[in-house]
Amino acid sequence: MRCDVLAIGTELLLGQIVDTNSAWIGEQLALAGVDCLLQVKVGDNQARIAQAISEALSRADAVVCCGGLGPTQDDITREAIALVMGVELETRPELVEVIRGLFAGRGREMPANNLRQAQVPVGAAVIPQTRGTAPGLICPIGDRVVYALPGVPHEMKEMLARAVLPDLVARAGESVTIRSRVLRTWGLGESAVAERLAPRLGALDSAGNPTIAFLASGVEGIKVRITARGTGADPAGAAESLLAGEEAEVRALLGDLVFGVDDQTMEAAVGASLLAAGKTLAVAESLTGGMIGARLTAIPGASDWFRGGVVSYASEVKWKVLGVTEGPVVTGSAAVEMAGGARRLLGADVGLAVTGVAGPTEQEGQPVGTVWVGLAGLGEHRAKRLQLGGDREHIRQMTVISAGDILRRALLAGG
Ligand code: ATP
Ligand code: MG
Repeated sequence: MRCDVLAIGTELLLGQIVDTNSAWIGEQLALAGVDCLLQVKVGDNQARIAQAISEALSRADAVVCCGGLGPTQDDITREAIALVMGVELETRPELVEVIRGLFAGRGREMPANNLRQAQVPVGAAVIPQTRGTAPGLICPIGDRVVYALPGVPHEMKEMLARAVLPDLVARAGESVTIRSRVLRTWGLGESAVAERLAPRLGALDSAGNPTIAFLASGVEGIKVRITARGTGADPAGAAESLLAGEEAEVRALLGDLVFGVDDQTMEAAVGASLLAAGKTLAVAESLTGGMIGARLTAIPGASDWFRGGVVSYASEVKWKVLGVTEGPVVTGSAAVEMAGGARRLLGADVGLAVTGVAGPTEQEGQPVGTVWVGLAGLGEHRAKRLQLGGDREHIRQMTVISAGDILRRALLAGG
């Protein structure tokens, strides 16, 4: 099965918008096992769009068009497809009602222009709109098919996944299921993670299924996405078992760098580790000013393992409230004493503290980005020094997630 892509819009040709839609569609087609061998851009001109569609159909079994389904006069994808099909456009009353309803829902009258979006080439099927006002189209031409999707990326993506890919796969006569899973890591950069996974990347290159991709996500860490394609009698089962097998291989190479799966955040991982260890936590925050507590308490059920925190920003608060020895406060021993103070004051099993220099100016003669993370209550009291880069906000964000990771690993190691 071959399906080419046609991105429609004069703005694409003028460089006013970048054609990210085609890239995404190409990726999804590949994942579904459909060959996509040519991607073309064309302006808002009916004859040229029709010609591009005809040419695509002379090479491919299917073509996905995106863009030009809006209500204005320059949105002419519907007309161009009708031209290629050799049919008229007809107004579908049920679509008029849906579009009118969408406007009514926002307390607005439907402009007459939007009636254009209820027009469909005779013989085409409609992909109901769930996000925008424009429905998508499935237009059979002989044994081939033209799909028309809106240009707005989130509308296009939703319709491609819901209607186009299943239709293509059904036409290919083979049922395919794609499953993917993201393993979230913290502690190494993208290239170092890739290096660790080199044995698997080498092994997978030749097979092509499953695949591994990396996504560097800043303060979210490095994401490793495993994607598997299942076919046969039980495609979902086949995809799941490929995924599970590869996840085990990847985890064996990455070890405790992996803190979570899919949408699991570091704070959720910290909560789960505390829960598993049956321990409660108290925090003392200096440069993060409560950000750690805020992120932890965003998790439902945090009261099972989180006692509370002290925002000990001023040195006097560290000394007088937390019992830190008077003197410098950007030190490992101050961090450990802060953690111990929070633990004691708030009646928790474990204390976690952060103190450091968020910038923009140095403090106690230490450079911006110097951060100490202290732990108390897990075996030996200890502190870890970080040297973080970036601006004040970035340093604070990195401190939150780094401190979480230090605590998570300490819990994993059994305290
Ligand atoms: P609308 O109802 O908004 O007019 P439409 O189906 O007519 O939708 P276009 O007018 O072609 O779509 O595009 C709408 C917006 O979607 C564009 O302004 C642009 O931001 C985005 N867009 C369109 N085509 C692409 C593309 N190929 N890649 C990325 N973004 C796109
Ligand atoms: Mg438009």
